[in-house]
Amino acid sequence: MNAKTVKVRFAPSPTGELHVGNIRTALFDWAYARHTGGVFLFRIEDTDTDRVTDEYIQAAIETLKWLGLDWDEGPEVGGENGPYLQSQRLDIYAEYAQKFLDQKDAYYCYCSPDELEAVREAQRKANVAPGYNGHCRDLTQAQIDAYKAQGRSAVVRMRMPDGSTTFTDLIRGDVSFDHNFVPDFVLVRADGSPLYTLAVAVDDILMKVTHVLRGEDLLSSTPRQIRVYQAMGVAPKDYPVFAHLPFVMGTDNAKLSKRNGEASIAWYREMGFLPEAICNYLALLGWSPGDDVENITMKELTQMFTVEKVHSSPARFDMKKLEAINGDKIRALTIDEFLKWSLPFLTKANVIQGSSQEIELVKKALPLIQERIIVLSEVPKMLKFLFVTEFEVDAESVSKITDSGSKEILKRSVKELEGVSQWSHENIEAALRTSLIEELGLKPRIAFTALRIATTGSTISPPLFESMELLGKEACLARISTALAL
Ligand code: GLU
Repeated sequence: MNAKTVKVRFAPSPTGELHVGNIRTALFDWAYARHTGGVFLFRIEDTDTDRVTDEYIQAAIETLKWLGLDWDEGPEVGGENGPYLQSQRLDIYAEYAQKFLDQKDAYYCYCSPDELEAVREAQRKANVAPGYNGHCRDLTQAQIDAYKAQGRSAVVRMRMPDGSTTFTDLIRGDVSFDHNFVPDFVLVRADGSPLYTLAVAVDDILMKVTHVLRGEDLLSSTPRQIRVYQAMGVAPKDYPVFAHLPFVMGTDNAKLSKRNGEASIAWYREMGFLPEAICNYLALLGWSPGDDVENITMKELTQMFTVEKVHSSPARFDMKKLEAINGDKIRALTIDEFLKWSLPFLTKANVIQGSSQEIELVKKALPLIQERIIVLSEVPKMLKFLFVTEFEVDAESVSKITDSGSKEILKRSVKELEGVSQWSHENIEAALRTSLIEELGLKPRIAFTALRIATTGSTISPPLFESMELLGKEACLARISTALAL
């Protein structure tokens, strides 16, 4: 790899399911790497062993795969800078912590949690910026011995020099942090485990990351990371370039949650949003391809994506827009692709078991609903009527076909349908239109709603005559008789 090759990393801490914000970051990282012909590195930041679980790690890996965000270095794929799970790199962090102690960039801090809390309380009262007061910065050997004799354990703390840190953020321009507001920070816990700031900075350098594109929530950790680079002896020209992506807010500008947009990616998957629709929509959160273009493919995204076009203001999540994009992506599928995406939903809902006959029928029915659905979880509801063995009418639809007018319609339909010899939707429609609309003078909506309920069991179904054709003459007549008996 030559020194100029872009390397971007996605580095989640899997303490839960990945959410919309994480995935938007992963997508921008990936798109930037692909746009520049660089490397996309995937690293798992699992040093917080109390909160990270194997299940969440596996889910993160699986989610990225499902979304099509393939990585060049990372779990399963490997690479020359591994391992890519921070829990497998603890000796590396320990080595650096020791180096910083030896250089006096860091020191042991013996303050107890109670003492630290007392300091914070005093700071609150005095209305000064909270943070470590430097108590253990320059302990004498005698003080250290006394603390040890008391059985106190120590954390390793980084010494923040006076002054400030300024760096250029690709999205926000020059950003400065006055060190009066960046207190000495913990690198290693008393139990020896490294903190995020140490591990992330060491890894970004050792893994030769050139660009850190990540959420705005991490902006304030940047001066601490730069401090670690300095202590590592890295020259400023070799620091990664930072770009902090704007927050993703819910529709009401509050933090994204179930109430205002739903944050969990797993939920979108269960609802039947296509990965390409999710990526397309998330790409528009904070970035825009320009010219009011909204529907783009992954390939177009990688061609067009530049960090310069990312905005710094928060992006607002809009479920309606995501739904519209998903509907468009569903309509753009070939029938074979649509079938592939739909089958798991149909089997999970127990609508089909998966036999080849069932699949044939699904394949014939899918074109009827492709224009009508927004998410794949609607497929089972729409196609269930083709597969039920014990025909039943929806509880809420029963009253719509038991009045005398509806019974008349159904009786007349039976008579007409019995006479249809070539069972095609054109012939079914012609027969019913002639008798119900022209001869009886009924409004189509009234006549056909009754028939729709009597043949499919509900008011929601694919187009009526096509549905009746797929269902077959015998089943249609049997169902209308059942409905008439209600
Ligand atoms: N592991 C951190 C997190 O999930 C992000 C690390 C980074 O992007 O710098 O919050």
